[in-house]
Amino acid sequence: MSWMSTALNLPSPLGVALIALIALIAIFGLIVGSFCNVVVRRLPQMLLQEDTQGLSAKRVSLMWPRSHCPHCLHPLRPQHLVPVLSFMWLKGQCADCAQKISPRYWATELLVSLWWVFCAVKFQLLNLSPQDSLAQHLFLTQWTSAFLWALMGSALICLAQIDWEHQLLPDAITQPFLWLGLLSAQFGLLGLTPKASLLGAAVGYMSLWVIAKIYFLLSSRDGLGQGDMKLLALFGAWMGPLSLIAVVLLASSTGAVFGLWRLKVKKDLDLHEPIAFGPFLILAAFTLLLLGPEQVLAFFGLKT
Ligand SMILES: [Zn+2]
Repeated sequence: MSWMSTALNLPSPLGVALIALIALIAIFGLIVGSFCNVVVRRLPQMLLQEDTQGLSAKRVSLMWPRSHCPHCLHPLRPQHLVPVLSFMWLKGQCADCAQKISPRYWATELLVSLWWVFCAVKFQLLNLSPQDSLAQHLFLTQWTSAFLWALMGSALICLAQIDWEHQLLPDAITQPFLWLGLLSAQFGLLGLTPKASLLGAAVGYMSLWVIAKIYFLLSSRDGLGQGDMKLLALFGAWMGPLSLIAVVLLASSTGAVFGLWRLKVKKDLDLHEPIAFGPFLILAAFTLLLLGPEQVLAFFGLKT
């Protein structure tokens, strides 16, 4: 009968609190993910109209117009604003015109939400107790660090999609997050010294700049955008100069494999069109954050 009593055991109050905390973080992640969808859709439009339209025209912004169906332009009802939930209720269709809604919206939300929960687990927020007066400083630092990394990951998920679609890594995202990284490192919130953060940013920017110059001298074409350099500077500021080696190695090899696959298998690659390198850099950075730089370097035989 022992299995039965274990099965019927009610979770302890602490267990319930933990589950509630994870659920709260996951829901908050869904809301951030919903905002990421707005940024991915509208930020490129906003930047584009800055170039083409005068100031008088009514401009698209992050707040205007209200979220609407991409097909019938009908504004979303408040209960449908979180795509993961409305996707399940409406079976992936618009409530008004019944057209299919791209799964990308809820996939983005789910990804952001999972990332927020991962950050909470990684920084052991669930093991920390605010009551412990000795641990109070640690408690605050860990929560702040987890929050910073969660924000940074959400920004990267936006950047990867925008770059993939528009070959654009907007300064409006890369620059504030570069400064946020440098500033957070000053307060010891990123697990690296302020010096390493500064050096990382400089090395990140310069290394791609040198590669781009050499490429330009050899081919008289621009291979890498300014955006890629700023993105690598951002990574350097958050992860330090040594992590950059692993990021660039991983990104160039996955990028090369993808390019070859499109050239040989899909046969739809035009070599004169630039391929966005940002998504590969971002994928590499996430791999590093999930596995650690040592694992990635060991994969390339650079570390035992
Ligand atoms: Zn519709």
